[in-house]
Amino acid sequence: MADQAATGSTIIALSTGRARAAIAVLRLSGPGAGPVLDQLAGTPRPTPRRAALRTLRAGAGGEALDSALVLWFPGPHSATGEDMAEFHIHGGPAVIDGVIQAVLATGLARPAEPGEFTRRAFDAGKLDLAEVEGLADLIGAETAAQRRQALSQMDGALSRRVEGWRAELVRLMALVEAAIDFPDEDVPEDLADSLSGPIAQLARRITKDLAGAAHAERVRDGVRIAILGPPNVGKSSLLNWLAGRDAAIVADIPGTTRDVVEVHLSLEGYPAILWDTAGLRETADPVEQEGIRRARARGAHADLRIMMADPYLWSGFGADPQDIEGPPVIPVINKIDLAPGKVFDPHPIFGPPERISLSDGQGLDPLLTRLTAEVAKLCAQAGEAGLFTRARHVAAAEEAVTALRRSQTHGREPELMAEDLRLAARALGRITGKVDVEELLDLVFREFCIGK
Ligand code: GDP
Repeated sequence: MADQAATGSTIIALSTGRARAAIAVLRLSGPGAGPVLDQLAGTPRPTPRRAALRTLRAGAGGEALDSALVLWFPGPHSATGEDMAEFHIHGGPAVIDGVIQAVLATGLARPAEPGEFTRRAFDAGKLDLAEVEGLADLIGAETAAQRRQALSQMDGALSRRVEGWRAELVRLMALVEAAIDFPDEDVPEDLADSLSGPIAQLARRITKDLAGAAHAERVRDGVRIAILGPPNVGKSSLLNWLAGRDAAIVADIPGTTRDVVEVHLSLEGYPAILWDTAGLRETADPVEQEGIRRARARGAHADLRIMMADPYLWSGFGADPQDIEGPPVIPVINKIDLAPGKVFDPHPIFGPPERISLSDGQGLDPLLTRLTAEVAKLCAQAGEAGLFTRARHVAAAEEAVTALRRSQTHGREPELMAEDLRLAARALGRITGKVDVEELLDLVFREFCIGK
C-alpha cells in the first residue's frame, strides 16, 4: 500500500496553534495528499477547492475520529504547487492527535519540517524570497503598522520594485555587451557617456528608496526608546505605566541582560520597544558607575530617548555632553505633585519638558500623545509601508549602488563596465532570491515554524 516516493515527499502538519480551539487545520502537501484524503474521508473526492463535510475514519471501516470539513486542492493551483488537502477538524488534542496518527498510519505521509510548506511554495515559484520574508513578518506582526508593511511585502511590493530595477539593468547590460561583441559595428563611440545618464538615474532611484529603509526596519522591529535619568526619578514607574495600558503588548524577551528591562508596546498601531535600565540604582558605587555606562550605551543605540528628572534635579539636567549627543530626546519632569505651582524653564537644548506625575496622573496623556507622535514620525508617514524591511535587503541594495557608481569610472573599458553592471544585477537578485539562493534559504526558512 505504502508508496515509498509519496511517503518521502508528502508532508502533514498542524497549521493552527496547539492551544485547545474550536477548529484546527491540518494540511497535507505532496503526491500522497489525494490518496490519504480518500482513505480517511472516503471517496469520491470532494470537488476541488470546495469544502465537504465528511466523517474521518482511521482507515476504511475504522473508528470514526471526527466529523470535519475537508478540502482538496489538486496541483499546480495550490499554495505549494503540489496536490494539497486540508482537514478542518475540531480543535481538541485527542482529535488532532487521532487524525495525525491516522494519516501517518497510511504510510503515505510524514510530519513536515519547520517552514517546509513555504519552502515548497518557494521551490514551485509561488513566492520569491522577499515574499516569503513578508509572509514570516505577517505571521509575526503584532501591530497594525507591521501588518500593513508585511502584507505589502508578501504581495510583492519589494519584489516588483527590485525586478523593475533589474529589468533596467539588463537593458543597460545588453547595450554594453553589444559594444564588446561587435566593436566595429554601429555601437556609439561614446558608449560610456551615453549610458552614464541612465546608470546614474538608476543608482539615484535605489538610493532614494534606501533612505526609507531605517523607517521600514523600525516598523518591523519596533522603535527603540530608552528611558534614562538619575536613580529614583520614576523611570520604572513610567515603564510600568506605559506597559500597563490596555493597548500595550507586554513581552518579556528572554536573553536580555538582567540590568535592562524591555517591554514591547503598540502606540496607536506603531511598534515600540521600551528599555528601562532599572535594577542597579541601589548598588555600590562601582556597580552603579557601570550601570550608568550601560544606560548611556543603551541611549546611544536607541531611536528616541526619554530623559527624566524630578523637580529638584531639573536645573542641572542633561548637562553632560555625553547626554546631549545622540538620538532625539523627550525631556520629562516627574513628581510635579511634590512641587505644586513650580515653574520650569525650557531645557536649552531639549526644549520644554513634559511635566508629569506618575502618582496622581497629571500630564500623562500629553506625554503619551507626544511619544506616539515621535514614534509615528520615526516610522515614516502613517499608512505608507516601507520597502526594505531587513538589513539583508539594505546590504544588497547598497552593494548594487556601489557597483553602479563604480561602473562609471572605467572610461572606455566596456568589459569592466559590464562586470560591474553584472555585479549590481546579482546584488539585486539576492533580494528576491534570483541568484545565490542556496546560502540564503536556510536563513530565511529557519524563521518559520512547523505547519507554515
Ligand atoms: P527609578 O529609579 O527612576 O526607576 O524610579 P522608580 O520608578 O523606582 O521610582 C522611585 C520612587 O519614586 C518610588 O518610590 C515611586 O513610588 C516614587 N514615584 C514615582 N513617580 C512618582 C511621582 O510622580 N510622584 C511621587 N511623589 N513619587 C513618585
